[in-house]
Amino acid sequence: MQPGSGAATPQVDAACVEARGLALGLRRAWRLRLPSSALKPWRTAWRRSDLHLCASQARFQVAQGGRLRALADGAGEAGVHLVVLSPDREFGRACLAEELRNVTRGAATDRGQLYATLETHRRLGFAYGYPACCVDAFCDAHVETVLRRHVWRSALGHDTNTAVVSDDGHEPEDPVDWGDNGLAIARAAARTDHFDPRLAAIPGALGASAASTLRHLPCRFDCTASRDLAEALLADLALTDGRRHRRLRGGLARPVWVDTRGHAHIATSAHLSGDRWHVVLPRARHVDVACQPRPGRPQLPLLLPFHEA
Ligand SMILES: [Zn+2]
Repeated sequence: MQPGSGAATPQVDAACVEARGLALGLRRAWRLRLPSSALKPWRTAWRRSDLHLCASQARFQVAQGGRLRALADGAGEAGVHLVVLSPDREFGRACLAEELRNVTRGAATDRGQLYATLETHRRLGFAYGYPACCVDAFCDAHVETVLRRHVWRSALGHDTNTAVVSDDGHEPEDPVDWGDNGLAIARAAARTDHFDPRLAAIPGALGASAASTLRHLPCRFDCTASRDLAEALLADLALTDGRRHRRLRGGLARPVWVDTRGHAHIATSAHLSGDRWHVVLPRARHVDVACQPRPGRPQLPLLLPFHEA
C-alpha cells in the first residue's frame, strides 16, 4: 500500500503525484513508510526540492489491514519507519507526532479514545489533502465498526474493555463485520451513481507505483471533491510528464473485486450475466458476485465496475 512496506529501498521519484501535490499546494504533507536504508538518501534528495523529511525513531511491522506494530530495538534492520515529508518542517513534525500518538493509542475502548481517533483522522486528512466529505465518511464507518464490535462482544459475553478493531481470530466472527475499510468501501459503492475511473483509489492499490492520483478512499466513486483533486493532478501531469499521465489515465479503468474482509483485488475482466458479475482474477481465478440488490444498500463482496470513460 505504501512505498517501503517491503525490504527493498524505494527510489526517490521527484515527479510522483504526492510530490506534485505538495508543489501545487493540494497537500500540506505526505505520509509514507520507509526502511532504515532509505532515510538518508531520501532526506538528502528531497532537500533539493525544499521538502523536509521527519522520521520516527521507532520501526514498525505492517500487520493485516495496514495496522502497525512497534518492533523491539533488537529487531535488526526489519520493519519500516513512519515518515512525513512537508515543505514546512514544523508542520511535518506535528503530523508525525499525531501519527505516532494514533499508533500507540490503538483501538478505541472508550468514548474519549474514539473521539481522539476521529479528531486525528480529521486533522491528518486535512494535512494530506483528503476532501472533508471523504474523511467524514471514513470516520462514520470507523465509528459503526467500533460500535458493532462492542455489541457483538457484549452478546458473546466478552469483556468490551479491550481493543475492538483488532482481528485476533480467537472468537466467533460477526458475519457482517467487514472492518472499517470494508464498510467504507461498501458504503462508497452503494452511494455511487457512476464509477469514475479517476477515483479508483482503493486500499491495496495505493502507493508510489499505484495507478491512481488519489491517496484516500473517496466517500463515493463519483465524489466531486475527489474528482476535482484527481483532475488537478492529472492536468499537472499532462504538462509535466506525458507518459505518466497516459499511464494513470488508462491504468485506472480496471474492475475491482472487494472480498468479505474488505480486501480489494484488481480484476482482469468482469462480465454481467443476469443479476451477477462474473469476475476473472489474475492466475485464472474466477468469482461470481451479486449485483447491488437495492441501491443505497451496502454489501460485500462486491464489484466496483470501473471501466474506460
Ligand atoms: Zn468525498
